[in-house]
Amino acid sequence: MTTEQSLLHRSNTQCELCSAKDNLSVYSLPPESQDTVEQSILVCETCHAQITQISPLIEDHWRCLNDSMWSTVPAVQVMAWRLLKALSSASWAQDLLDMLYFEPEMQAWAESDSIQALADESATKTIDNNGTQLLAGDTVTLIKDLDVKGAGFTAKRGTVVKNITLTDNPLHIEGRVNGVRIVLVADFLKKVS
Ligand SMILES: [Zn+2]
Repeated sequence: MTTEQSLLHRSNTQCELCSAKDNLSVYSLPPESQDTVEQSILVCETCHAQITQISPLIEDHWRCLNDSMWSTVPAVQVMAWRLLKALSSASWAQDLLDMLYFEPEMQAWAESDSIQALADESATKTIDNNGTQLLAGDTVTLIKDLDVKGAGFTAKRGTVVKNITLTDNPLHIEGRVNGVRIVLVADFLKKVS
């Protein structure tokens, strides 16, 4: 039997992390990445993209570890441990991690590689209409006329706004237009410098 056939059998033809049944493939755990049954797990496309860090880790998806961390397959346990470690800023993940006790040899294997908790940076960066990141102090221009509610004027397209500041909302910046400090939608702006 090939590794894939063995894993299909072992897993009952489902993702060993989240139990999905479609688009399954073999994932060999780094750092060795040996294509052996012992060092590999069968995963779905969604899990694969996140454990190989093509996609950022989606916290909700990994609630599935609540079940799969109790797998009898060491490679699945090790993968669950690495994922929980990467997600451990979330209290539920840290709680599960605390419950997962390994013998020293397994612990060493688990710790021999790690998954970076890639935050979804696009969600926290402030991006202008061109996709350029905006930072405090930047100068931007308006790419459309904007009615400034409450201030009684329209900020014209092409208006230059210097020395912007960021806000708690990554979609908004603050800047001074006609002497009035207003909140502007980052998507209506273009960075000048
Ligand atoms: Zn999966």
